[in-house]
Amino acid sequence: MYVGAQSGIYAVLLFVYLSTHIRAQTVAMEDVGYFWHVADFHYDYQYSMRGDPTYYCHYWNETTAKDLGYYGDYECDSPMSLVVSAVQAMKANKPDVDFIVWTGDDAPHVPDAMVGEELMIEIIANLTQVITDIFPDTRVYPAIANHDYDPSNQLPVQTSRQYNAIADAWSGWLNHDSDAVASLRKAAYYTTVMENDVRLIVPNTNLYYTSNKVTAGMPDPAGQFDWMENTLEEAKRNNQLVWILAHIPPGHPERSHSSPWFYEEFNERYIDIISQYADIIIGQFYAHHHTDHFKVLYNDNGEPISSMLLAPAVVPWRNKYVYNAEFGANNPAVRLFKYQRSTGKLLDIMQYIMNLSEANQNNSPEWVLEYTATEAYSIDDVTTESLHELAESFKPENSENFEKYNLYCSASYDVTPCDETCKQMQMCAITNIRVSDYDACMESTTSASSRASFNTITLFITSFWFVVTIS
Ligand SMILES: [Zn+2]
Ligand SMILES: [Zn+2]
Repeated sequence: MYVGAQSGIYAVLLFVYLSTHIRAQTVAMEDVGYFWHVADFHYDYQYSMRGDPTYYCHYWNETTAKDLGYYGDYECDSPMSLVVSAVQAMKANKPDVDFIVWTGDDAPHVPDAMVGEELMIEIIANLTQVITDIFPDTRVYPAIANHDYDPSNQLPVQTSRQYNAIADAWSGWLNHDSDAVASLRKAAYYTTVMENDVRLIVPNTNLYYTSNKVTAGMPDPAGQFDWMENTLEEAKRNNQLVWILAHIPPGHPERSHSSPWFYEEFNERYIDIISQYADIIIGQFYAHHHTDHFKVLYNDNGEPISSMLLAPAVVPWRNKYVYNAEFGANNPAVRLFKYQRSTGKLLDIMQYIMNLSEANQNNSPEWVLEYTATEAYSIDDVTTESLHELAESFKPENSENFEKYNLYCSASYDVTPCDETCKQMQMCAITNIRVSDYDACMESTTSASSRASFNTITLFITSFWFVVTIS
């Protein structure tokens, strides 16, 4: 073959390659969508700039009054100015999202006697209205939380006035699916199919919470486990992929050595179900920790099979029952996801935060991009495989990725380094969702020293209150 013919063939091959490649890129770009995840507003209708930070930032009297921030205080729940600022920041940074996911906790951390059923219904309606006003044409997929009910945490297994009120408030967003609204009325869980054909399953995981005394000892509260299994089985039969959206995740908090959020038998059954259908569950979204955290689920062979992404909170409220209590608060945060529409594959996370001190000081709420997951951590996407790789990259001492994760965990509020005990709690909570695995991890990873063991025991005692007070 002479040289001219050879060049011609190469030119044709190059043209075919480039045209295919460019076309693939174009299709991929059209296939990329975005959605917001917002969680844990904890709106306090009694927040006062003349409030007492030791008394929920409520005004008590002239002696206790302090000059607090317009956008809130790290000791307390959110004023309406912070709630509105967060949703406006979502609109300003990405108005044309495909939808929003909202994983609840609307009411403040105050005694139940200060809220009551009427006010709880009003708070949820108010926040629903704020989101609707700012995003009038965007569908929102909401999930109920432990602070969306009065008395707090005591969510029942059958229909109630409050479940009906919530279904009424959210029916505008779920108006395409009357079965979903009916299911919300029944026990505050639902399933629906999203525009891209991915099935969304939204369990009411507050039924499994150890602070819920109504469901203690029940074999299957509200028949929800059976419902989840049947819904997943049907999805599998129909070749549907699934996302799971809920407020409280299974597993353990990551900033204290603690018991799991769920009663142990519920935790294990939940994980059994997730494990059984892990091949079709391609996204799980939770909140409740108020921190930026994730969990990876492994099978018996140690292979990663599923993962859970926890969004940090809007509320800055300081949790006093964590290891580093001095830094138990967080900066307000909202999270943008990038995903592939046709497959539901999770491509990236853009985490936005507001430095609360600066916002109050400047009287201007500046929301900034804290990090983009693929760039900050050098991972391909935020799928289970990539999150497993990320967790692996945390293991070495002085892991740069872990140091970043530790900072982002509190939305860049806690800038102190994570010591051995802190890292052990983080790693065990990230990679061990079953109770026995977590306990073994906390026992065995005492690579540290007697200091770590001592701290761990002390922490376990002090952290008991963590699971009953938060979040
Ligand atoms: Zn919560
Ligand atoms: Zn919360």
